[in-house]
Amino acid sequence: MLGHYQQKLDSLKAQNQFRQLPKLIHQGRFIQREDKIMLNMSSNDYLGLANNQELRVAFLQQYQDQLPEFTSSSSRLLTGSFPIYEQLEADMASAFGRESALLFNSGYHANIGILSALANKQTLIIADKLVHASMIDGIRLAQCEFMRFRHNDYAYLEYLLQKNAQAFERIIVVTESVFSMDGDCADLARLVALKKQFPNVMLYVDEAHAIGVLGENGLGLAEQQHCIGQIDILVGTFGKALASMGAYVICDQTIKDYLVNKMRPLIFSTALPPFNIAWTDFLFRKLPLLKVERTHLTALSQYFRQGIVDIFNLPMPSQSCIVPYILGDNELTVRTALALQQQGYYCLPIRPPTVPKGTSRIRFSLTADMQFDEVDQLLNCLRELA
Ligand SMILES: *Cc1c(COP(=O)(O)O)cnc(C)c1O
Repeated sequence: MLGHYQQKLDSLKAQNQFRQLPKLIHQGRFIQREDKIMLNMSSNDYLGLANNQELRVAFLQQYQDQLPEFTSSSSRLLTGSFPIYEQLEADMASAFGRESALLFNSGYHANIGILSALANKQTLIIADKLVHASMIDGIRLAQCEFMRFRHNDYAYLEYLLQKNAQAFERIIVVTESVFSMDGDCADLARLVALKKQFPNVMLYVDEAHAIGVLGENGLGLAEQQHCIGQIDILVGTFGKALASMGAYVICDQTIKDYLVNKMRPLIFSTALPPFNIAWTDFLFRKLPLLKVERTHLTALSQYFRQGIVDIFNLPMPSQSCIVPYILGDNELTVRTALALQQQGYYCLPIRPPTVPKGTSRIRFSLTADMQFDEVDQLLNCLRELA
């Protein structure tokens, strides 16, 4: 019985693609693996909130001996709905200035569940070539017609829309806002203008890497580009800059009601613990106040990106705190990542199938608790490797 699986694993090993769970010890923004302590350059904790002890203490101090429940014991449709859920949903709908918000257990749940609930055989989904695996899985579950457009190529998207708008009851255009492996941004205002040309086109945007980081109040790229009100399905997650767990959609009440009735990962999974939702709510309310962190992260990222441009004579690699250094070749990427780890930087090589063939890269992600001198030292290191 197991021979089949062992053979598959052996062939992964032979192709240098065998994955293992690393043994890590976290020390603030540093990571210890074996005896080596490294600056974590691979974190999604963009605002540096995950390491903030004071926040944790302040959160717990709100409660004396009446702590929120550590489990919801049920799906929200049965007995797992608690007032704190409704409170966070109300807080979010109000912050975004939209009719409603709905919470999910994770971004993965959100993307597989919403897309498969909203799409049917009369639906066409058109997705950016580089969208996250969770959206691809949602599209597969939907069993609807599916096309992709070249990354951020809106002229081609427009062509696809014109060609197909008549043939389908509805089209859902799917994109990320800040792309997870490239750190570049969608032009949401342009996408909104485009979808408005067609009465049957909806826009679906995943802000996993932008919520907390972008926008005057940290509400994401849609806030920065002034189009929160025009995005039909605005999804984001709490596991990255928001230092928690879970996900949300911002939408009209009809869509929320429809998801409550039709979305299987919402209906058939135990809701997150109220304790966890309370922590998310605590941090979400702080978002507008974290301008110092956002400004620092923006400046730090700009500095680092310019450094990469200068050292390697490459075009500007990204527009965010996610900065890919694309080496192309798999082996070279792995070797370079290991060399950087030796120097004290926890950098990971990203290879196909996570990214397209020939674009293997090191994905640096910066966080607001890093300092300029730390980034400078990393740039020096890269200069020596170049
Ligand atoms: C991380 C990520 C997700 C998944 O969110 P989880 O809460 O970790 O399940 C979804 N979409 C994008 C773009 C992501 O980067």
